[in-house]
Amino acid sequence: MIDLRSDTVTRPGQSMLAAMSAAQVGDDVWGDDPTVLELQARLAERTGKEAGLFFPSGTQSNLAALMAHCARGDEYIVGQSAHTYKYEGGGAAVLGSIQPQPIENAPDGSLPLDKIAAAIKPIDNHFARSKLLALENTIGGKVLPAEYVAKATQLARDRGLSTHLDGARVFNAAVASDKPVRELCAPFDTVSICFSKGLGAPVGSVLVGPKALIDVASRWRKVLGGGMRQSGLLAAACLYALDHHVDGLAQDHANAAHLAAGLAQIEQIRIDSHATNMVFAHIPDAYCAPLEAYLKERGILTQMLYASRFVTHRDVSREDIDTVIRAVKDYFAR
Ligand SMILES: *Cc1c(COP(=O)(O)O)cnc(C)c1O
Repeated sequence: MIDLRSDTVTRPGQSMLAAMSAAQVGDDVWGDDPTVLELQARLAERTGKEAGLFFPSGTQSNLAALMAHCARGDEYIVGQSAHTYKYEGGGAAVLGSIQPQPIENAPDGSLPLDKIAAAIKPIDNHFARSKLLALENTIGGKVLPAEYVAKATQLARDRGLSTHLDGARVFNAAVASDKPVRELCAPFDTVSICFSKGLGAPVGSVLVGPKALIDVASRWRKVLGGGMRQSGLLAAACLYALDHHVDGLAQDHANAAHLAAGLAQIEQIRIDSHATNMVFAHIPDAYCAPLEAYLKERGILTQMLYASRFVTHRDVSREDIDTVIRAVKDYFAR
């Protein structure tokens, strides 16, 4: 199957599986799994932060980070379309007693500075305590402009807020902007990074930040059920991805651009945006379900009903993209 539903569908290859089965393991709840410790240290070093912490999912890594920054009755400022706000079951409010203060994202994914400034509450018993600004990079595949990130995080710091980056795909952002990932992480106190997306590991995210905050997040990870035992098996896959899969993200980005160009030639389709490994298309509602079914019969998985988002990744080749473009053209030519 050619699966364009998400970059989460990547499967571990033979070499990654070999690295996993060769991993030295311990018990990470006791803090003595050497492979987990190595991954955490490598990520901290690579992102220029003091410490790292391995999580089973990005959702849990983000939540533990929010809970480390914010106490009960604090609030975090976040985008309406941010993953932590919209796609994580409301965890900050449900489990963290943290009030989200959502702001409409601008089309480029940023949160307008004047709206951030206006959302920060004075210290007053009427208000939740504004504590944290959370951004996302990439967001909807788009790389946040570096000058914007510098200004937004400076504004947060000037007003006494800390900063978190949902950097699930921050390696895509780094490769697309040809900057070291360390530079993209530098403006933030904490960053959560997914290995189970385009980097191709089966499971795993790492939270990086100052040691004191990571220690608090580690306690919340245990409370949230994310303390794992011989998790070096999983960390080995992430280390393998870090060593072998980062540069390949550029190919995914080229494939997404190629897909966008191919689909744009079809009269009934409008490309809303394409950036890094994602293409968002507008396909008239009436075509979505039948086109999705037509493609599925031909071994192509998409999820058009939900967002008409096509995601490229390391298990989709240039030839696969050509196959997809041809199949969509055939559908509309019938
Ligand atoms: C995937 C993703 C996450 C975390 O998702 P999990 O499936 O829980 O690992 C967080 N933020 C963004 C932007 C994501 O794309």
